[in-house]
Amino acid sequence: MMTLRPLLLSPGRTGALSCDDPVSTTEAMCCYCGCDIGKGRDMVGSIEGEDCVLCALVQNLVRPRIDEEACIVWVPELSQPAVNVMIRRVHLTLRAHKERVETDAKPTKAVGIIPALYHVAQALLDRRREAAARLGTSSPSELADALLRLPADAYSGRDRLLGGARLLPLGRLYDGSSDIYPEIVDSWAASRRATRN
Ligand SMILES: [Zn+2]
Repeated sequence: MMTLRPLLLSPGRTGALSCDDPVSTTEAMCCYCGCDIGKGRDMVGSIEGEDCVLCALVQNLVRPRIDEEACIVWVPELSQPAVNVMIRRVHLTLRAHKERVETDAKPTKAVGIIPALYHVAQALLDRRREAAARLGTSSPSELADALLRLPADAYSGRDRLLGGARLLPLGRLYDGSSDIYPEIVDSWAASRRATRN
């Protein structure tokens, strides 16, 4: 069974706070969520690096429109990589059924697995209330501000401070004013088809 590396909520990987989770070269070949799909092609716009776009988001909370792209939820029973794996599957399936992937978009069809996927996403979204109750916010940008103000020792121990806080991607990703997330989901689907052939 593959061991997933811990993925911590981080304001950004450049600037004053550099990556404090060094990984070996071998580990760096695989994304935090264990996915090997869409890498490279994911890196549209301002997200850079080797990780898939969902794992990259977790480490780039200072993105200008992050509060439209994601929210903070309290889900201690799932690791951050597990949340990313689940959301990728939800978005891939919705898109394959020609449904919109934004978490606030109600599916047009109530057939097959679609209502169940919509409810999975809504149940995760509901957990933002618990994040707000525990952390004082469910806004990624506010959390990033708070993390940036932490002293270095508290920052490196943020895993404990943040507890069950996870970033929930909301099915949008902006490059300037355009939402490029649908084409990213399509690149995952294309990449899956290519591995199967
Ligand atoms: Zn990933």
